[in-house]
Amino acid sequence: MHEIQVHNTLSGKVEPFVPLKGNTVHMYTCGPTVYDFAHIGNFRTFVFQDILRRFLKLRGFELTHVMNLTDVDDRIIANSAAAGVSIREYTEKYVQAFFADCKTLSVQSPEHWIRATENIDSMVELIQRLQKKTYTYDSEGSIYYRIAKFKDYGKLSKVDLSGIQAGARVDNDRYEKESARDFALWKAPKPGEHFWETSLGPGRPGWHIECSAMAMKYLGETIDIHTGGIDLAFPHHENEIAQSEAATGKPFVRYWLHAEHLLVEGEKMSKSLGNFFTLRDLFGKGYKPSALRFALASVPYRRQLNFTFDGLQQATSSVERLRNFAARLKNEKFPAGKRAAMEDRIAKAASDFDAGLSDDLNTAQALAAVFDFVREANIAMDKGEFRQGEVKAAQDLLATFDKVFAVLEDNDGAKLKVLGYGGDEGGPDDAEIEKLVAERQAARQRRDFAESDRIRKELLGRGIILEDTKDGSVRWKRK
Ligand code: AMP
Ligand code: ZN
Repeated sequence: MHEIQVHNTLSGKVEPFVPLKGNTVHMYTCGPTVYDFAHIGNFRTFVFQDILRRFLKLRGFELTHVMNLTDVDDRIIANSAAAGVSIREYTEKYVQAFFADCKTLSVQSPEHWIRATENIDSMVELIQRLQKKTYTYDSEGSIYYRIAKFKDYGKLSKVDLSGIQAGARVDNDRYEKESARDFALWKAPKPGEHFWETSLGPGRPGWHIECSAMAMKYLGETIDIHTGGIDLAFPHHENEIAQSEAATGKPFVRYWLHAEHLLVEGEKMSKSLGNFFTLRDLFGKGYKPSALRFALASVPYRRQLNFTFDGLQQATSSVERLRNFAARLKNEKFPAGKRAAMEDRIAKAASDFDAGLSDDLNTAQALAAVFDFVREANIAMDKGEFRQGEVKAAQDLLATFDKVFAVLEDNDGAKLKVLGYGGDEGGPDDAEIEKLVAERQAARQRRDFAESDRIRKELLGRGIILEDTKDGSVRWKRK
């Protein structure tokens, strides 16, 4: 096994990863802002952090991983007020959709899902700690963070503070680097908008204090890993550092990992360009969850991912290639015995897979290790050289691969059905195919060729090709 290295935005370097406390990794992921359905760009980042989580588990670490649901922010407050409903009513639909989308994309649940609305007390306490240390000032019922007092401000995003006027403030949760200013920790209520009555007075938390308070409440004052998309590095994560470190005097996060953005056909996703897709938009067009997960995972997280429909089609074929290979291992009968050369080949693929992921989650390298092996093993099988005694090691390699990539199980059809898409569009699953193949074998044995032909045609119509092999067994693959 290789030393795990990750790129830390804070140092700007790739560093060996070692957790602070024994074998347990304390990790925080900024979750979705639940004011709308999450889009595929959001899921680029959520799939990245899932690959990280799964790889750490594969390597034997325990995880205490928190993901929050941002259910208080400017847009949610404004939209729920405009709709005349409570925050909970407004966000619930998007929260449930997010959970369902994560399941569909096989994004594992963290150990703790938490909501900003359920942690207001911790935010108030943290603001009070900052008040005591005079990092704050009040203005018109709001409370602001005084960035000039925190000497390390800018250390994560390397923002240039030279042009900043002392005392200039920003109320919005999201703003550009050029607008680095004192930001709101607590916002005075506006007419018609939701607010909390607290010991700070009436109002609501700013977005940044939410994550600082929740991360420290659930994970402690210094946490191992904090993840998010690159757009969060400034101002969100910069402000989280300022808040947490000013309050505790301790380093807040040891490794900051940020995913580069997803572009669609080379452009930023936007509704006006018509290139804005939620998962459901793609499932509605007939694409499979496994293909989307593969497409999102296959480009290393620090490279911009250019999402294209061609790429999604290729991802579909890649997943099929792996599933067909897994089916060959399971269904074909190979000559007895095993050869040291193939065993070495499989061990090399496993080592290269681990080397790729250990190298700052280089998913492209890890995938290449597996696909190169699959290509060679398929050739060996076609030539009759692959041996029965090699099956188990090859299956173990695929199982290891799938603990991280999670695309082998043929459950796309079932997942889509849960979301209300296409009856059988995903095609029959492995179990159904094998049942039909067995029925066809039985029909052939009793020389009922009309029936065996009918089953072959039925499967072909549903996208499954059967090949009768010389030894009398049947091999099947998806078109
Ligand atoms: P939000 O719901 O806006 O708070 O975003 C949820 C996550 O998605 C954050 O980690 C963002 O950085 C990330 N994100 C937003 N847009 C993209 C994109 N186009 N590509 C990758 N990640 C994104
Ligand atoms: Zn956050």
